[in-house]
Amino acid sequence: MKGFWLNIELNLVRVEKNGKRIGENGMLLKVRDLEVAFSSRKGGKKALVRAVNGVSFDVRKGETLGLVGESGCGKTTLGRALLRLTPVPVKGKIWYDGQAIEAIGGRDFRSLRSEMQMIFQDPFSSLNPRMTIGQMLGEVLSVHKAVPRVEAKKKIHELLDVVGLNSEYFNRYPHEFSGGQRQRIGIARALAVGPRIIVCDEPVSALDVSIQSQIINLLNDLQKEFGLTYIFIAHDLSVVKYISDRVAVMYLGKIVEIADAEELYDSPKHPYTKALMSAIPLPELSGKKERILLKGDLPGPLDMPTGCSFHPRCPEAIDRCRSVEPALKPLCEGSERQVSCLLYEKEVC
Ligand code: SF4
Repeated sequence: MKGFWLNIELNLVRVEKNGKRIGENGMLLKVRDLEVAFSSRKGGKKALVRAVNGVSFDVRKGETLGLVGESGCGKTTLGRALLRLTPVPVKGKIWYDGQAIEAIGGRDFRSLRSEMQMIFQDPFSSLNPRMTIGQMLGEVLSVHKAVPRVEAKKKIHELLDVVGLNSEYFNRYPHEFSGGQRQRIGIARALAVGPRIIVCDEPVSALDVSIQSQIINLLNDLQKEFGLTYIFIAHDLSVVKYISDRVAVMYLGKIVEIADAEELYDSPKHPYTKALMSAIPLPELSGKKERILLKGDLPGPLDMPTGCSFHPRCPEAIDRCRSVEPALKPLCEGSERQVSCLLYEKEVC
């Protein structure tokens, strides 16, 4: 049975008449063994750099899944791969709403693109400096055939209103806006085509702290209002904790831990997650905690360690870590929390 558009004003929430269009068990996105590899040269020979290396996870309808890790760990490439925005083919399987993405083509793919949108770190570079905001949003609506042409102007005014921008800004150019306002325009552009899931790639990293909280609150409000699902990529762990329901930690192209946000921040299991969490600044009165300093640098993508890729830097490494690669698996039977570490081979609950 075809879905229908529920939200009359902005056409943002699509549901199924029988209430079942949210995929199996409420999953909106299911990702299995995703791999994105770029070819490179090492010592004159061609080599493959796996920016994303066999990643599997699910995203539930209406949740925010945070994605954290050091620069270069593959989180942005992963976000882009989900939307088929990488310049190289993606291996593995992605199901959106129960449907395998690679099987979707033509007109259906354009519809899928509308439902899966992205917000970028630097909205300025993704806005055309020669187009007014009205023209730009009008173009998006036209390309995606989101509304009849005669209704486009009204819809643009509604979009500006919903992201907290004055509708008089319709005829202004990108350079006439502040960083926070430009990010609001980026959000309006994503919302214009009625998305169900938005990959937010470092959406507040370039903004002042006070503006960051305004954008985060806006994203939270929009999620509640329109039932949106977010994948929120950021390196600021405090921001990720605030906005996320669950958090996945990435290291060298792999997810090493995934858990409920509260649980992960309160009792990290993987040694890498522990080190990341120990680096979060605490308010002065909340007591002291010991900072875990990792030795060495992130290995180069062409010099991946054997066994557990974290072993050269891991403060808890044991001999087997050099030769055995741990799998991401539940902490115990039935647990949703997953860790990839040999220290948790036996069930721990
Ligand atoms: Fe550290 Fe070994 Fe666990 Fe890897 S498998 S995180 S090296 S203890």
